[in-house]
Amino acid sequence: MAIYLDNAATTKPHPAVVKAVADCMSEVYGNPSSLHGIGLQAELLVNAQRKTIAEALGCSAEEILFTSGATESNNLALRGIAAAYGKRKPHIVASAVEHASVNNTLDALEKEGFRVTKVFPDANGQFTAKAFLDTITEDTCLVSMMAVENETGHVLPVSAVFKVLRKRYPHIIRHCDYVQGFMKTAENVELLAADLVSVSAHKIHGPKGIGALYVRKGIRLHPVLTGGKQERGLRPGTEAVPLIAGFGEAVRQRHLKTYEFFKQAERCYDALEKRLCETDGIAVNRFMSGIPYILNFSVEGIRSETMLHFLESKGIYVSSGSACSKGGRSRVLGAYGVPDDRADSAIRVSFSGENTVDEINLLVDAIREGQKQLIHKK
Ligand code: PMP
Repeated sequence: MAIYLDNAATTKPHPAVVKAVADCMSEVYGNPSSLHGIGLQAELLVNAQRKTIAEALGCSAEEILFTSGATESNNLALRGIAAAYGKRKPHIVASAVEHASVNNTLDALEKEGFRVTKVFPDANGQFTAKAFLDTITEDTCLVSMMAVENETGHVLPVSAVFKVLRKRYPHIIRHCDYVQGFMKTAENVELLAADLVSVSAHKIHGPKGIGALYVRKGIRLHPVLTGGKQERGLRPGTEAVPLIAGFGEAVRQRHLKTYEFFKQAERCYDALEKRLCETDGIAVNRFMSGIPYILNFSVEGIRSETMLHFLESKGIYVSSGSACSKGGRSRVLGAYGVPDDRADSAIRVSFSGENTVDEINLLVDAIREGQKQLIHKK
């Protein structure tokens, strides 16, 4: 049996999600924009899921746009605001630890003439409201800050930073990549104090290829794609109805288990942290505030990929960092001040509520065996 500990990369779809997608494909095959009854059936289904997702985020259904995933949500948020407000206000601020879908979009916008300031964590790996406030200029249009960093599980103080920004600079738009926090932390759009929030279904046992962007009422956003009038003209293209059905079902299923999953992830996290601390040659890459779903550590003297493949040979699946960076040294660990040799041997373990402490014990036994075999071979 596989021991799957790479849930920050993606999760296994819940059986009820698989059923919802399949049922929708065979039964609700209309185009939501069609004017006849079969189209209407699809439209009703899409709008019911929109309501479910809106409730989970604490907003109204009209404020939710469906996208192909958080990469697109992040692109639409950043590029959409840059296009709407950026001519007069071409300055954008973001944390230096954002996911590639934010970071690389900002790099592209910089090449297109925008000014981008990236805020680095302090010596303790923390972000302060002051660090963000210090970057604000008269021409800042947007601040983007993720809620939970996907390689380390670090919880960024989005709510604190955004509330200060809202008070002092209410005209600046605030975007949050909430992918790793959605249905894992008790935030909603109000608590985050965000104008735009990106989420993705496949991190919560939903289907891949579907996500959403919350756009607060009154925020002016330009579409990135040109086409039809779907999603209020902000995201043209026929809605991915079966994936939307799966997204809604994933949220409903997750809702029933939010607390239970959190407690189980916490049990796994605590067990793993304790046993790793008892193991020589392992450093946990931990920062002051973390989520119990992700634990990052370095095994001295063994490159991440080498350990990853050793663990895979034992049927245990972990990650060497963000799945979206596919190898290469982690930019994010560097930003947190993790030295290069430690970053090169970093392993990310990420839990779902379905992992068990027995699995964690097998993981640690395998790591210790790997330390003996792999260091010896060097
Ligand atoms: N942001 C974060 C923090 C993520 O972890 C991910 C997924 N790795 C994304 C954005 C991109 O999500 P998607 O796979 O839905 O495009």
